Amino acid sequence: MANKSNGKKMSATKKILYSMLIGLVVGLILHYTIPDGIVKQKVLIDGVFYILGQGFVRLLQMLVVPLVFFSITTGVMQMKDVSQFGRVAVRTLILYLITTAVGVIFAFFMSYLFKQGIGMSLSGVSKPEINSDQAPSFIETIVNIIPKNPIGSLADGEMLQIIFWAFLTGIVCGKFTGDLKPIVDIIESGNSFMMKVTGLIMKIAPIGVFALIARIFTDVGLGIVGPLLKFLGAVLTAMVLLILVIYLPLIMLSSKAGPKQFFKKVLPVYTFAFSSASSNATIPLTLSSCDSLGIPREISSFTIPLGATINMNGTAIYQGRAVIFIANAFGIHLTMANLVTVVLTAVLSSIGTAGVPGSGMIMLSMVLTSVGLPVEGVSLIMSVERIVDMFRTALNVTGDVVATFISANQENLLDKERYLSDEVASMEGLEI
Ligand code: ASP
Repeated sequence: MANKSNGKKMSATKKILYSMLIGLVVGLILHYTIPDGIVKQKVLIDGVFYILGQGFVRLLQMLVVPLVFFSITTGVMQMKDVSQFGRVAVRTLILYLITTAVGVIFAFFMSYLFKQGIGMSLSGVSKPEINSDQAPSFIETIVNIIPKNPIGSLADGEMLQIIFWAFLTGIVCGKFTGDLKPIVDIIESGNSFMMKVTGLIMKIAPIGVFALIARIFTDVGLGIVGPLLKFLGAVLTAMVLLILVIYLPLIMLSSKAGPKQFFKKVLPVYTFAFSSASSNATIPLTLSSCDSLGIPREISSFTIPLGATINMNGTAIYQGRAVIFIANAFGIHLTMANLVTVVLTAVLSSIGTAGVPGSGMIMLSMVLTSVGLPVEGVSLIMSVERIVDMFRTALNVTGDVVATFISANQENLLDKERYLSDEVASMEGLEI
């Protein structure tokens, strides 16, 4: 299946990219040509674009819980070498934590170059609707991984609990395949059912992506970016730095094919994560991109949902940058010990950050509180929140794929032929 209609697969990627660009252009034209009023707000922003964009995101969200459950369970059940899997999982986890910490440090560095938020006026700043109680403590997050009620976890979409339960189910079913044959059959059929439903829904991805992007730019235009250029500039350059200094060398060391091959295959995932601002909603497509990279499902079905939940490279950069920006805006000096605390808290908070829009901002309150900064400072950067969220989500998801790719490669688990093929992230092999 891997080489089936390559031309068509390429055009699927292009379609998503084009729809993003068209969404941007259409959004900007509408923003600047249609006067504020009912047509712009109710018919376009909260009407057509909302229905198409949010409808698509919800369709994907609808897939996430059963897809994650069935694909982890099937993967673990079929696992031939448990210790090898353990090594890949641990390596991926370590890479997740290290890249997140490095992201914060890069954000500090870029904040320094961009001369922070000095001189910002704090007058007229409205208090954000945010409160640090929303952020769970680290210990609580760890204990919470064990579900009290697995059915409840599935119903509530508690990702870490679902991963835990799916893993356990996979181990038991793999060990007692004979005794548990009816359950094993249901799980295997459930898995192929979910792949087929995912394939069907992904066919409308270009429309969803167009509507998501067009909605944002019809609403905000480019005007909001100006006053916060320094904030955005430091965030974006720190992201580029992470890609150039960490991701690229790691990918180049792992693959002789070079980074171009890798990024070509990750591009559709990047664009969709960008449009939806949700790592969770992107999981179906991220798994598909891992397939095209030659990563076995046994690995990706575990590391990708885990990464979508705990690996937040982009969010960490945003938090590091926000801390410096807010401290300077309030004229508060941060010591070296404070900065170390911020790195640690940002790493821990990324574990508790759900892969949904805006959660990084909620967790930012925990990071600010850890060094005694005022939580109200978040209001200074709120106007660009959605735009920053799009960039950080794209990086969050890319980071998941990079770490998974590197770890799988180190164990010689990559299907090199598939990696070198022209296949890109699409619903290859999932068509019904
Ligand atoms: N939206 C991000 C994600 O889904 C999380 C965040 O708000 O930073 O990965």
